[in-house]
Amino acid sequence: MRFPLPLTLKIASTLLKQRWRAVSRFATVLQLEPLHACNLACTGCGRIREYASTIRDMMPLADCLAAAAECDAPMVSICGGEPLLYPEIEALVAGLRDQKRIVYLCTNALIMRRKMSDYLAVQWSEEPRRFEPILYQLILEKLISHKEAAVIRSGRIDKKRPVIKPSRWFYWNIHLDGLEATHDRIVEKSGVFKECVLAIRMAKILGYQVATNTTIYKQTKMVEIEELWSFLGTLGVDGHTITPGYDYAEAAEAMVRRKQGRPEDFFLTRADTIEKFRNAEEWGRRFPLLGTPVYLEFLAGKRELSCSAWAIPTRNVRGWKGPCYLITDAHYASYRELIEATDWDRLGRVNGVARDPRCEHCMVHCGHEPTATLGINAQRGDIWKNLRFNFGPRPRITAKR
Ligand code: SF4
Ligand code: SF4
Repeated sequence: MRFPLPLTLKIASTLLKQRWRAVSRFATVLQLEPLHACNLACTGCGRIREYASTIRDMMPLADCLAAAAECDAPMVSICGGEPLLYPEIEALVAGLRDQKRIVYLCTNALIMRRKMSDYLAVQWSEEPRRFEPILYQLILEKLISHKEAAVIRSGRIDKKRPVIKPSRWFYWNIHLDGLEATHDRIVEKSGVFKECVLAIRMAKILGYQVATNTTIYKQTKMVEIEELWSFLGTLGVDGHTITPGYDYAEAAEAMVRRKQGRPEDFFLTRADTIEKFRNAEEWGRRFPLLGTPVYLEFLAGKRELSCSAWAIPTRNVRGWKGPCYLITDAHYASYRELIEATDWDRLGRVNGVARDPRCEHCMVHCGHEPTATLGINAQRGDIWKNLRFNFGPRPRITAKR
């Protein structure tokens, strides 16, 4: 199966519940940005630039949990900024689990090993005989140092502080935009790719689920992304998300200002996206992609999908960002206000015509994946494709033929 059965059932039951209540617009995934501060400054990142004036601000933990409860999305993607810099990240993950939500923690992985060491320290103090061989393996593979191991064995930990534990309800979601040279160039720092690989290896030894997310830019070579997925398969990564890089205003402005670059040399037009993703359906058969087959068909230019940005709302330090993850016209006090104040019929593309010029080239997953998942532009055979995607075997990594 693509996802653990309880996760699939959780999402299916939420969709059925909303249908039964005849709710036409509801949240499937909450993009929760508890802060926008980051320990990187990636070339294509609009977030750290759009929110530069509030970069030190953070959402109180209670507001984060209230946002999830309010929109009631079955899945929460904690993003930012770098969420592991959020001082209460462990309590946030635990609180979302108490609310019975599926959690994806999107991270650049720079401090992921430290967070997993905190978990290991607690486990070791409770069951040293069980966890000593695991600790030994981590040392052997140089995933932690002898000094770090000594700290873990010392038992000097505050057991009342929550830690991020492996669970079938939790995924690390690691940002990786290519193999080593490409990724380090895009994140503008060398050594980041290597750190991601070490963090993935450590996570799999400790029993975490791991996904990766990749943004495709104009210079991305898709054959390199195939190599990346093949390599990640050897590390035991559970799934991959992929989305076309879109030149929303702040990312494009930053490109001009900082790099003296032309946004059109970096971000994708709709035609570029279709060209880059022409093999998307084949990838869906070869690799454990987390995008649905219908969304992959859309990316490959085989069908149109309207926009359902209301299903993947973004909540951050300023409020509920509207209308979508990419465009900011306003921040609202509540999810309900976002839904009611936004003129959804003026967004996205219908019959090949953009209803808002800013949507012309947008094919990003946060606008269109829910359209596929919810069967909004359904065609014959889609139900079978979705069933096979969810309940069929997960693709095993194969070498390119
Ligand atoms: S790691 Fe993520 S949030 Fe940080 S700069 Fe890069 S894209 Fe932006
Ligand atoms: S099509 Fe894209 S840019 Fe337009 S509203 Fe939807 S998600 Fe936002």
